[in-house]
Amino acid sequence: MVHKTEKITMLHGAGGTVMHDLVKNYIVKAFTGIGNAEIPLEAMDDAAVVGDIVLKSDSHAVKPIFFPGGDIGRIAISGTVNDISCLGAQPFALACGLVLEEGLQISDFERILESMREACFEADVGIVTGDTKVVEKGALGGLVMNIAGIGRRTTALDNNLQVVRKNRELQARWTLDSNLSRGDKIILSGSIGDHGLAVLSAQQGLNFGSEIRSDVKPLNQMVQQLLGEVGGVVAMKDPTRGGLADALNEWSEKSKVGILTYEDKIPIHQDVQIACEMLGLDPLEIGNEGKLIIGVVPEKAQQALEFLWQTPQGKEAQIIGEVTTQFKGVAMQTVVGGKRIISRPIGDPVPRIC
Ligand code: MG
Repeated sequence: MVHKTEKITMLHGAGGTVMHDLVKNYIVKAFTGIGNAEIPLEAMDDAAVVGDIVLKSDSHAVKPIFFPGGDIGRIAISGTVNDISCLGAQPFALACGLVLEEGLQISDFERILESMREACFEADVGIVTGDTKVVEKGALGGLVMNIAGIGRRTTALDNNLQVVRKNRELQARWTLDSNLSRGDKIILSGSIGDHGLAVLSAQQGLNFGSEIRSDVKPLNQMVQQLLGEVGGVVAMKDPTRGGLADALNEWSEKSKVGILTYEDKIPIHQDVQIACEMLGLDPLEIGNEGKLIIGVVPEKAQQALEFLWQTPQGKEAQIIGEVTTQFKGVAMQTVVGGKRIISRPIGDPVPRIC
């Protein structure tokens, strides 16, 4: 869907079709064909591959900068680490670009740096270079930041691909959005909607009865263990802006397959479900910051699931669907027995969640 407008709107940053069109029709168009990368900009995957290095840059403008369960610093580290992890690589260095707003409290700045430091320890990756700018008091909401990072291939990724190739053909050397084929199972590593609703509650001063906390966390350790100890993973993606609905549709388009999901298998915490019903939001379209969808060859799906249950980041994992060639797009088998089409959202219903 083309969203015709003369100016940038908030929807252009909200995941979904409007942002996708902006990135594809302006940014990718401007740089396609310059330089050479194994996985280039126009693949629009979670990160690029140049030589044997995985490269990613991710800016963060979450509002407010503190919210239940996290803050802008924890998201920034986790976002870049998780995108690099999606290709099967292990992040090994980060760069941090800060834009601070005049008036930001030094105590808040220190709190954010401490939170970044903690996330770096969890991911076992450091910030090795960076830059700091200051702008006049205005609309930043305190600060924005960019974290770029590089990752490299690991023996765990090589082991993973060997396991895949014992079961079927795969040309790709990385876990990519375009790798899915018929029969693959889709695992979701945990519950959805927590992050978006935690940020929304902080933005609007809403109280949902219980405190809904963001799931934001680095997932690289879980990913590398899964690849090394189980294997059979063909694709991974973090369902951030636009949520599960957007991520599954992107897989379906790039792999040219259909994806059938089962409503009763998708983990959603009860407080998130109730808050979504209250606000008229679809949890499938709400962004997450500590979850992955994982495409696995069917022979390894159950073992991968049971492995994830043993990790702190994957305790609530479920097999939520499978890849089919019987239809195009994404559909859901509902609890009441019908089928519902899951289309790509226009944009995430909650603005500035990351
Ligand atoms: Mg991503």
